[in-house]
Amino acid sequence: MIGYQNIIDNIAKAAKKNKDKGKIASYIPELASIDINKFGIHLIDADNNNFSTGDALEGFSIQSVSKVLSLAHSFGLVGNDLWKRIDVEPSGDPFNHLSLLELENGIPRNPFINAGAIVVADILVSHLKNPKKDFLNFVQKLANDKTIRYNEKVALSEKKTGFRNYAAANLLKSYGNLINDVDTVLDFYFHQCALEMNCKQLASAFFIFMNHGKCQRGKSYLNINQVKRINALMLTCGFYDEAGEFAFEVGLPGKSGVGGGIVALLPNTYCIATWSPGLNPKGNSKLGMAALEELTTRTGHSIF
Ligand code: GLU
Repeated sequence: MIGYQNIIDNIAKAAKKNKDKGKIASYIPELASIDINKFGIHLIDADNNNFSTGDALEGFSIQSVSKVLSLAHSFGLVGNDLWKRIDVEPSGDPFNHLSLLELENGIPRNPFINAGAIVVADILVSHLKNPKKDFLNFVQKLANDKTIRYNEKVALSEKKTGFRNYAAANLLKSYGNLINDVDTVLDFYFHQCALEMNCKQLASAFFIFMNHGKCQRGKSYLNINQVKRINALMLTCGFYDEAGEFAFEVGLPGKSGVGGGIVALLPNTYCIATWSPGLNPKGNSKLGMAALEELTTRTGHSIF
């Protein structure tokens, strides 16, 4: 048996001492006040054993990590029709760039850049009766935790400052790739990004991606092909314009968010969530990435 607890405890100890923790995202004002010293890891293995260290049970804003959960929900609802409206190529651009969207006639490069996630949000708004409530319910069920909530302050903070997301949504609308109205879709999108979860809840919610679509309780949410596709997208597009670097250093499919969270997984083996709010210049958690690199190096286990 691999000594996961020992490995993550050592990673956390080294992270606490590391003085260069990156920079907190301040473009969403409500996120700017988070303590940069927070650091947590939670790992769940395929036999449902849990390993936790540091601030793993403290909630934080999951931001773009939510894009995988919204993609999973919409993929389950509409199947491959999804790919008529969103492509599956890495963008090589930062998450909020719009130039490619115009060049490619309103078809976002992938579901994890903001424009792609806004189209996914549009699909959920069209298909769910009470979109925000039903999506929250979906996430609570995946994580088997009814306490998960939206942070309304974060959602409002982003609504007030999300000028680029308004620009993206309007551009999508002008190309006919947004069915519902801009404000309704963005209200949903800002809420999904404002989900507050801790590392344990995140690792639990992502368990389906390492377990052929089945959650920890054995219920099936996605089929094997859908899981394959979502994991492929995480590997190629999950880290903004640093997806290549993450694959190179860590070698796992995963997704980051500007709240400092990262979730990554090794199919059939483990699922792990890290939280360290300081970001590198590409917007990925600096120490979270380093922690995952250390984990795959120490265990010798990556998808490669
Ligand atoms: N809600 C953020 C935005 O749309 C998400 C950014 C991120 O985590 O990548 O700007």
